Amino acid sequence: MSAAYDLARYGHSVTLFEADDRVGGLASGFRESGWAWSVERFYHHWFQTDTDLLGLVQELGVSDRLWSKRVVTAFWHDGQPCQLDSPLSLLRFPGLSLLDRFRLGATLLWLRKTRNWQLLESVTAREWLIRYCGPRAYETIWKPLLLGKFAEAYYGDVNMAWVWARVHSRTSALWAFKGGFQAFFDLLAERCSSLGVDLRLRVPVIRVDQVGRGTHVVRTAVGEPLEVDVCVVTGSPGLLTRLVSDLSEDYRARLEGLKFIGAVVLLLSLTRPLTSNTYWTGLPKSHFPFLVLVEHTHFAPPNCFGGNHVVYCGDYCHADHDYFKMAPEDVFHTFVDALASLNPEFNPSWINRWWLFREPYAQPIPSVNYSARVPSLRTPCDGLYWLSMSQIHPWDRGVNHAIRLGRAVAKLIDGDFSGRRSAPVAEQRTEL
Ligand SMILES: Cc1cc2nc3c(=O)[nH]c(=O)nc-3n(C[C@H](O)[C@H](O)[C@H](O)COP(=O)(O)OP(=O)(O)OC[C@H]3O[C@@H](n4cnc5c(N)ncnc54)[C@H](O)[C@@H]3O)c2cc1C
Repeated sequence: MSAAYDLARYGHSVTLFEADDRVGGLASGFRESGWAWSVERFYHHWFQTDTDLLGLVQELGVSDRLWSKRVVTAFWHDGQPCQLDSPLSLLRFPGLSLLDRFRLGATLLWLRKTRNWQLLESVTAREWLIRYCGPRAYETIWKPLLLGKFAEAYYGDVNMAWVWARVHSRTSALWAFKGGFQAFFDLLAERCSSLGVDLRLRVPVIRVDQVGRGTHVVRTAVGEPLEVDVCVVTGSPGLLTRLVSDLSEDYRARLEGLKFIGAVVLLLSLTRPLTSNTYWTGLPKSHFPFLVLVEHTHFAPPNCFGGNHVVYCGDYCHADHDYFKMAPEDVFHTFVDALASLNPEFNPSWINRWWLFREPYAQPIPSVNYSARVPSLRTPCDGLYWLSMSQIHPWDRGVNHAIRLGRAVAKLIDGDFSGRRSAPVAEQRTEL
């Protein structure tokens, strides 16, 4: 959408096909009756360092709808949640000697200061963190964090630059949009439409064929094929290979080499809070059937959701994992059975509604020297561009980076095809 927004501002004629019934993709949300705000299907927040996103919000003239809050983040350690979101909580964290804490603190400080992430890309996070923080801090803090994001199959492959990016850019205050993320995406969609973007919801693209140098025919499940001179695919590497038949073997092999895992998230609406004040609790897979508990209503107030308490139980796993095959009720029971460990008073009668969301392409795996393998935004097919979460390395996937890449691809296309532009809608270009 951010690519469409800029391309329309530059004066290009844009059609945006969206398979879903709403815009927003993985960050989209829904609103139940009685709720003032929508809730995201997968837990979402922004950081103060998400400057591309905050810049776009400002550009749209709706900065007054941004809000932020400092939240409590904890890790499960030795049968209880232990706060770990500030230097003070680090000093108090149990299970680490004074020396371990000092080494951990010094490493975190260095990671926040250094800008040379390229140096860290050639080594796995496991190797680097054991060497510099020590084995105990690795086992207690870092390993659960890596496992929480990349599961057993991939956590050992992740490169240290990915950890650097998280430590370097994250802030303890989280940001969001009043009304929920969906309200922001709907607003951006409205602006796109008012600039002339032809936004077609519930229209999945099924094929993109190159019919001449720089001319593509976009075929959709609904309606007539559309001939275009530029096509931007904004989805997984698998989506690109499925849609486009003209990719070279070599390029296809590069796309297939980009690994990723999926996410399974159970969203609960409860009549009571589950935890006392913690927004985010990282959980060990050895004791829990999921990896993170996010109590959304310790961030956004419950009165936005009709007084209900909104809780996510999230897990990352490969798309061939049982969680992708099980009946939704079975995943529900597996996850809910573990909630009493987080609050012994929990009773399933507190649950008034629940939803299960599963997404096979949720988290790219940034292995060693990843950036050398990431395909650029321009594909080898003339007029075909691709952007996805797999291309934002070393940064962790996020809406901010989707916006940054969307705007970057718009600028690239505008440069490549400047001769074909009609009258510009806005003279001022976004600096990227
Ligand atoms: C569990 C989880 C937690 C996250 N937490 C955060 C967070 O806290 N903060 C944050 O900033 N980001 C977070 N993210 C990441 C964020 O959601 C993504 O980075 C962002 O949504 C990527 O945007 P995108 O437009 O590149 O891709 P997507 O959001 O995947 O959008 C792709 C779009 O393409 C559409 N589509 C797919 N196939 C077709 C087709 N054939 N035809 C037409 N349309 C099609 C899809 O319906 C979708 O709307 C999280 C993601 C997950 C999974």
